[in-house]
Amino acid sequence: MKARTIQMPGYERIASFCDTDTGLKACIAVHSTVLGPSMGGVRMHPYATEGEALKDVLQLSRAMTYKAAAAGLPVGGGKSVIIGDPARDKSPELWRAFGACLESFGGRYIAGEDMGTTPEDMDEIARATRHVMGRSASSGGLGDPAPHTARGVLAGIRAALKWRYGDGSLEGVRVAVQGVGAVGMNLAEALHRGGVQLVVGDPCEERAGEAVKRFSAEAVSPEDIHKTKCDLFAPCAMGGILNQQTIRELRCAVVAGSANNQLSSVAAGDALAKRGILFAPDYVINAGGVIAIAAPLAGLTPAGRDKKIEGIADRLTQVFTRAEQAGIPPEKAADQLSEDVLHAAEAGRFHPSSPEKEKRTRVHSGFAT
Ligand code: NAD
Repeated sequence: MKARTIQMPGYERIASFCDTDTGLKACIAVHSTVLGPSMGGVRMHPYATEGEALKDVLQLSRAMTYKAAAAGLPVGGGKSVIIGDPARDKSPELWRAFGACLESFGGRYIAGEDMGTTPEDMDEIARATRHVMGRSASSGGLGDPAPHTARGVLAGIRAALKWRYGDGSLEGVRVAVQGVGAVGMNLAEALHRGGVQLVVGDPCEERAGEAVKRFSAEAVSPEDIHKTKCDLFAPCAMGGILNQQTIRELRCAVVAGSANNQLSSVAAGDALAKRGILFAPDYVINAGGVIAIAAPLAGLTPAGRDKKIEGIADRLTQVFTRAEQAGIPPEKAADQLSEDVLHAAEAGRFHPSSPEKEKRTRVHSGFAT
């Protein structure tokens, strides 16, 4: 196994790994451990170049720092990427080799599942290291985090509707869901139960058909779902969906969904705000899954975990309040609130007179409820 350290300002540690025996090509980035050991998923994707994989791991690990800070979790931000095809390149040997890479971080980075990996893959990795979470339910782990993510998104949707219309009720509200996969289907089910009129768009006809059958949803083509006239558009598929073109085509008052990195650029956020569309910053509203995965590390009971997931509603309201007061878009307000948490924790960490743990707890009550 060849390991190489990569220096990058603003990141605590980045290492790339290459193992010819197993075909493993991976990169692990620890962005910040200011709030606690860094956590973040293992993404497996056939990246065209190593540069592309590095860019992804840098962006994703930084986003994890902000997500954990916003969620009030005592964990930092990290991420791994593996260059490979999830359908072809997995093997027990590859996971063992990857587990050895994780071990070299000595617990400063804890891995979990992400796009291209499953809780069962985490079980394999766990044969080589303790520093992995998000294992399968049959191995005593959490299993699929998507239902928790969907529950948090639902709480966030209610808060966003309340902010926009003065009423968080779902009855009769028209919602367009882009992508009825693991999160989107759970969300659609909960929205349907709340009395929402659903419109769905998914290239997978089977999933779209299931939503039509189970929730009396209207199905539209995936190309048109964002153009649907509705109260709220919920992106629950790929990132980068909100760009200058799609923003011009939106016919909703609110955008609130689970997809990561929904804004294609800073300018896209400004364009949304200019159109008067309320945006629920993705890393705040979609934190239910990471809260559930980090719950054991954060010492949360199942009831405490659920309360924290429901607390996404209050944290989102804090974001909207700061955005309104400061005259800035919500995603900038969310960044500021997360940075407040991080700066306060950093100040606490280096303050000689009080124990680090106590400082962290106090800092966490800042953004979180
Ligand atoms: P998934 O792969 O289970 O579902 C994605 C769905 O989107 C699939 O049904 C797919 O067919 C559909 N889709 C793909 N392209 C589409 C398009 N152009 N238009 C409409 N639909 C399209 O993924 P998931 O786990 O449900 O995650 C959805 C999003 O939420 C991702 O961006 C993910 O990063 C984010 N997220 C997921 C979790 C989680 O707990 N799973 C947590 C946080 C964030």
